Amino acid sequence: MNIKGIKISIIGAARSGIGAAKLAVKFGAIPFVTDSSSEEKLKGSIELLKNLNIDFEIGQHSSRVYECDLMVVSPGVPSDAEVIKIALSKNIKVISEIEFASWFCKGTIIGITGTNGKTTTTSLCGYLFNECKVKTYTAGNIGLAFSEIADQVNENEFVSLEISSFQLDLIDKFAPKVAMILNITPDHLNRYENSLEKYALSKQRIYKNQTENDFLILGADSDILTKHLLEHKSKTFWFSMKEKISNGCWIKNDKVVYSTDNEEKFSCNISDIFIRGEHNIQNAMAVIIAAKIFDFDNEKILNALRSFKGVEHRLEFVKEIEGIKFINDSKATNIDSVIVALKSFDEPIFLILGGLDKGNDYSTIEDLVIQKVKKIYAIGSSAEKIFNYFHNKVKTEIRKDLEEVVASALSEARAGDVVLLSPACASFDMFENYEHRGKVFKEIVNRI
Ligand code: ADP
Repeated sequence: MNIKGIKISIIGAARSGIGAAKLAVKFGAIPFVTDSSSEEKLKGSIELLKNLNIDFEIGQHSSRVYECDLMVVSPGVPSDAEVIKIALSKNIKVISEIEFASWFCKGTIIGITGTNGKTTTTSLCGYLFNECKVKTYTAGNIGLAFSEIADQVNENEFVSLEISSFQLDLIDKFAPKVAMILNITPDHLNRYENSLEKYALSKQRIYKNQTENDFLILGADSDILTKHLLEHKSKTFWFSMKEKISNGCWIKNDKVVYSTDNEEKFSCNISDIFIRGEHNIQNAMAVIIAAKIFDFDNEKILNALRSFKGVEHRLEFVKEIEGIKFINDSKATNIDSVIVALKSFDEPIFLILGGLDKGNDYSTIEDLVIQKVKKIYAIGSSAEKIFNYFHNKVKTEIRKDLEEVVASALSEARAGDVVLLSPACASFDMFENYEHRGKVFKEIVNRI
């Protein structure tokens, strides 16, 4: 793609925006970076942009933003943001940062999206491919931005790329060699006029540009994916925990098997997958399919599944103290994640719930909580709502902070119990973000 001499406005001055600006400079374009958040928050970025001699504007989007030939939007910016609407009304071409970065990437892209499981699957995919001896970058919303590495990837290398639906809303030609949609459940629907179909359509854009030479991997246990499959050219594989699959992964006699045209090509025990829970088996299935598309060696795949320890803050094992296991699932900021977390344990659970409530309907987890949870500790601004909902169903107590929770759990839980931080809520009432919440929890536990 020739971008020489064109003016590019880049929305967002965090990692992806700066990565995109660097790419723009490298390939001869003239970038202008803009971000509406405060100078205080973007100190590091401002320093970097100054050092790189890149023009920028912080704290506002002035009319200067629209003096461009192309607008590149960072992943965190919603596709219905005002700045995008105005640009479109001025007939400016607006694309997402992954679209832009993909123009400069010669390697093979595995694009991974879905409502839940993106980070885990993207990390596992990167890890497993590397274990199978192909150099693979792990990028997207995790760690590295795609723009930071896109032009360094050679023809024979891979990128395992996490993609959000905002990013997909603004693609043009982006066509990953392998596209995955892990699952689709209601989340962020407010950004899609409260329509699950519209949200699903946005995710399904991941395969709209694929050709006969590309591959599509879909979760068959998400009704919306099976019912609303759009027309496409790529070869399709499915995975399911519930039903037999002729091309893809499924469970046969308690084993995970991969078959194509009913011929079995890979199988392993469920217990070979180190990361816990049914949801993680599904994530692993998607990666197994991708690995077999490239005909990787079964023994190497198996070793990688056995040795991948998961991702921080997602059902992360912290420590066992006197037989009590402490688990950090701080990333569980919605009810769906709590459901999968609860289902991942056979042990009795002391559940830490609460934080900033995004309108949770606790009736959807009521039965599971009654079945699995010995006691709830409620924290944060939603503590009272949680207490009111659960206290006459399961033992529930409000605690001031995680320090108090851990102290209580230590005295109340017994060997064989699990203490699970899976809060179903955002963290911003008490913490900077979910990572901060998870780290605080781990620090307290590790101090013991
Ligand atoms: P994402 O990047 O899509 O937010 P993560 O891998 O960070 O996904 O996982 C976030 C949470 O979603 C996890 O804590 C887990 O509870 C849940 N989760 C992970 N994988 C799945 C899946 N395949 N299906 C449903 N829920 C999942």
